Amino acid sequence: MKVASRVSLKAYNTFGINSTAQYFAEVSSVAELQELLGDEQWQRTPKLILGGGSNLLFTSHFNGLVIKIGIGGIEVVEENHQEVWIKVGAGENWHQLVIYCIERVWGGIENLSLIPGTVGAAPMQNIGAYGVEIKDVFESLEAVEISIWIVRRFSSDYCYFGYRVCVFKNIYKGQFIITSVVFRLNKQPLLNTSYGAIKEVLVERLGKDNLNSASIRDVSDAVIHIRQSKLPDPAEIGNAGSFFKNPVVPASKFEALKQEYRNVPGYPVSETEVKVPAGWLIEQAGWKGKRFGEVGVHDRQSLVLVNHGAATF
Ligand SMILES: Cc1cc2nc3c(=O)[nH]c(=O)nc-3n(C[C@H](O)[C@H](O)[C@H](O)COP(=O)(O)OP(=O)(O)OC[C@H]3O[C@@H](n4cnc5c(N)ncnc54)[C@H](O)[C@@H]3O)c2cc1C
Repeated sequence: MKVASRVSLKAYNTFGINSTAQYFAEVSSVAELQELLGDEQWQRTPKLILGGGSNLLFTSHFNGLVIKIGIGGIEVVEENHQEVWIKVGAGENWHQLVIYCIERVWGGIENLSLIPGTVGAAPMQNIGAYGVEIKDVFESLEAVEISIWIVRRFSSDYCYFGYRVCVFKNIYKGQFIITSVVFRLNKQPLLNTSYGAIKEVLVERLGKDNLNSASIRDVSDAVIHIRQSKLPDPAEIGNAGSFFKNPVVPASKFEALKQEYRNVPGYPVSETEVKVPAGWLIEQAGWKGKRFGEVGVHDRQSLVLVNHGAATF
């Protein structure tokens, strides 16, 4: 397999940071990946797994081997009159998969339209948007264990999905490379329009009385419309989407905050905890739209850090 030396990663991360990989290889099958991991030359070399580079910020050059996951393929592995299970290669583009499912009227991931990146990275942070997370449609995944290069299967119970987290980001960090994911989708989709903004767009486009006729494609189109109006396009300005997680604080802490800041928004996540929007906190701190040379906080979306053009790590 071809392993290149000194490769610029600028085109491989949506922040557009010009970091250099000491070594770089792209794998297009599980066998190729196993062959690479099994090669003695690379066994002690630090490794970085790369999908679409839309959730990464390089903070130095990478003195090791970057492995770009290019494993493709979408296949139906099981189906009945209600549901279909599809196995998808980790290198497939996430949004293209969403469109592929919408064309076949397989519901479940339409709310996750237009999230950049690959299928293999999606479980890593349990991607989520507009009331849906990948865990809602996730059946299982296959991953190669880096140290012994064998394939293991993880069902949902063993992935420990949480808010933008799963087992591969904590106790198994750096130990596995996801090669495929199986999703369970619905052939008679139930729409999730619990997010007010989606409903507003649907009413505007279809009329209030026609909401019942909305399809998963209508929901996807609404999500695309909302995202395009709110989030900066990495093709125009370097960014990695929302950079910050919303802090979850004890309800007592939230009450104390409220005494000081009467307008602080909060969303209960359990009886004892409240989620506080990080965007609101950043805005209150006066950082929305702030710029320091080539880096800054986006002027419409304070959760998003941006590269104004020539930012370095
Ligand atoms: C404009 C914009 C909007 C976004 N909106 C959202 C959103 O609404 N919701 C959301 O959840 N995220 C969002 N994101 C973040 C990002 O798109 C997701 O986290 C996406 O899943 C990252 O995929 P990727 O292939 O680009 O991963 P990368 O950035 O390449 O990698 C991310 C992490 O996963 C690891 N990794 C990648 N592939 C594999 C693999 N096959 N096996 C093991 N580890 C792997 C990498 O080492 C790295 O640690 C947004 C990003 C942008 C730029």
